[in-house]
Amino acid sequence: MAALIDLHCHSTISDGLLAPEALVAHAASRGVRVLGLTDHDDLGGLAIAKEAAKRHGIAFVNGVEISVTWKRRTLHIVGLKVDAENAALKSALAGVRSARDARAREIAAGLEKVGIMGAYEGAQSFSKQSIMTRSHFAQFLVQAGHAKNVKTVFKKYLVKGKPGFVDHQWMSLEEAVTLIKGSGGVAVIAHPGRYDLGFVNMHLLMHEFRGYGGEAIEVVTGSHTPPQYDQFATIAHRFSLKASQGSDYHGPGLSYMEMGYLPDLPKGCVPVWQDWEEAQLLHA
Ligand code: AMP
Ligand code: MN
Ligand code: MN
Ligand code: MN
Repeated sequence: MAALIDLHCHSTISDGLLAPEALVAHAASRGVRVLGLTDHDDLGGLAIAKEAAKRHGIAFVNGVEISVTWKRRTLHIVGLKVDAENAALKSALAGVRSARDARAREIAAGLEKVGIMGAYEGAQSFSKQSIMTRSHFAQFLVQAGHAKNVKTVFKKYLVKGKPGFVDHQWMSLEEAVTLIKGSGGVAVIAHPGRYDLGFVNMHLLMHEFRGYGGEAIEVVTGSHTPPQYDQFATIAHRFSLKASQGSDYHGPGLSYMEMGYLPDLPKGCVPVWQDWEEAQLLHA
C-alpha cells in the first residue's frame, strides 16, 4: 500500500523534467493514488497539478520544498498541505527565487574562471521559465561535454570546494517552519540522511525543528538507503515526529527513484498522512 502515496516530487516549475500535468499523469500511471508536488521554493505548479489530479481520479496534496541554511549547511524542509495563496509564504518564496537568480550568475562566474563560458544562458535553456537550480547547470555541463553524467558533474563542479559552488545564504530553519505552519501546512525535514550531520548535530536539528513546530521527517525516500529507513524511523520515534515518504522524483534520467516503488514505512512509524482527508482513498 505504501507505494500508493508519494509526497515528494518535482516538476518543470523547479528542476523536474515533466510539466505539472505530465508529472501527475506519470504518477497516476505508476499507481500513485495520493500525490504531493514539492517544487523547490515555488508554488507555481500546484493549481494545475491539482486540476490534473482530479481528472486522473487521484488525490492531491499541495507541497513545497524550501531551501534552508542551518549551521552553514543547506537543508531542505518540505511543507505539505500549505495554502498556495498564503501571502507571507508567497512573498518569502519570491524573495528566495530572486536570490536564486543572483546566485546563478555567481555560479556562472565561478565556472567562467575555469574556462567554461556561457553557463548562465546554458543553464537557463534547461530551466525554461522556472527557477535556476544546480540541476540546470548540471544538465548544461553534461551537454557541453564537461562530464559524462549529472552525478559526476556535481562532484566535479557543483559541490563545496568546486568552481561552480556558491556558499549561498538561504532562509533560516525557523522562518521556513514558521511560514509553512502559518499557511496551514505541516513542516517535514526532507531526506535527513543526506546532510552528513554527526550524531550530535542530527539530534540538535530534530530538537530545534520540533521546537519551531516541525511535525515530521522523511523516513522512506528515494534519497535514503534501506538501512536509513530504520535509522530515521528510530529518530522519528525518539523525537515524537511523524514519518513521511516520497520518491523525490525529478523525471526520467534525473531521479533517485522511479515513482510507485516506495516500500512501506517501517513498523511503528506514525504516517504524516494519518488523519488526512486526502489519504482517505488509501483506506477505501
Ligand atoms: P540547488 O537547490 O540549486 O542547490 O539545487 C539542488 C538540486 O540539485 C537538488 O534538489 C537535486 O535535485 C540536485 N542535486 C543536488 N546534489 C546532487 C547530486 N550529487 N547529484 C545529482 N543531483 C543533485
Ligand atoms: Mn531538485
Ligand atoms: Mn531535496
Ligand atoms: Mn526534492
